[in-house]
Amino acid sequence: MSAKTNAETHESGPLERLYRVQGLDQELDRLHGEEGHISDELRAARTEQGQINNRLEDTEIELEKVDRQIRRLELDLSSSNEQVARNRAEQERNATNAKLQSQFESVILQLSERVSDYEESLAPLYVQQTALRERASGLRGEHKALRPALSSLEGADEARVLELRAQGEGARQERAGLIGNLEPRLVKEYEMIRRGKKGIGIVSYTAGRCQGCGVMLPVNIQQRAASGSLPPVKCPSCGRILIKLAI
Ligand SMILES: [Zn+2]
Repeated sequence: MSAKTNAETHESGPLERLYRVQGLDQELDRLHGEEGHISDELRAARTEQGQINNRLEDTEIELEKVDRQIRRLELDLSSSNEQVARNRAEQERNATNAKLQSQFESVILQLSERVSDYEESLAPLYVQQTALRERASGLRGEHKALRPALSSLEGADEARVLELRAQGEGARQERAGLIGNLEPRLVKEYEMIRRGKKGIGIVSYTAGRCQGCGVMLPVNIQQRAASGSLPPVKCPSCGRILIKLAI
C-alpha cells in the first residue's frame, strides 16, 4: 500500500481531518513559542540598558537628596551671614558704648562659628554633588550610546517575529479550511481536550495501546475507534479522542 493510497483513503474522514488540524496546531504552537526566543545579543543589550537605567535612577535619587541638603544648608548659611552683617551694623552704630561693643563681639563670634560650621558641612556636599552629576551624565551618555545598537536589535527581532507569523500563515489557512468542513461540536471537544491534555486532543493507538497515555485499550473500544464514526470514541483512561491511523 503506497503512502498516496493512504492519504486518499483517510483524507476524507472527519477524524483524519481533525488529526491534521492537530498537526497544524502543534506547528502553530511551536512557531508561537519561538516568538519568545529572543537572541542572546538582544537579551544582553536589554539587560545592560536596564542596569544603566537602574543605576541612573539610583544616582538621581541620591543627587536629589544631596541637592536638598545643600539647599537647606545654604539657606541657613545665608541667614547666619545676614545676622552677622546686621550685628556688625548695630555694633558700628553703638561704637561709643564699650559694654555693647563686647556683647556684639561675642554674638558675632558665635554667628561666625556657625557660618564656618555650615561652610564646612557644605564643602563635602558640593564635592558629592559634582561627582553625582558627573556620574548621572556619564550614565546618560552610556544609555544614549547603547540606543542605536539596541534599537537595531529590537528591529531585527520584530522582523524575526513577523517572519514567524508569516510562516504560520499557510498553516492557519489550511486549518481554517479543515475546520470549516468539520462539525463545530467535534472541533470544540477536541480543543477542550487539547487544552487540558498537554496539547494533544486526538491520538492514535498501536498494538492496542493508546499513544497518549499508554493504556491497553479494550477490544471493543479499538473496534469502535477503527470505524472512525462520530461521535468519536475516547480513551477510557486519558479521555483523548482515538483515531485508527493506517501505518
Ligand atoms: Zn489514553
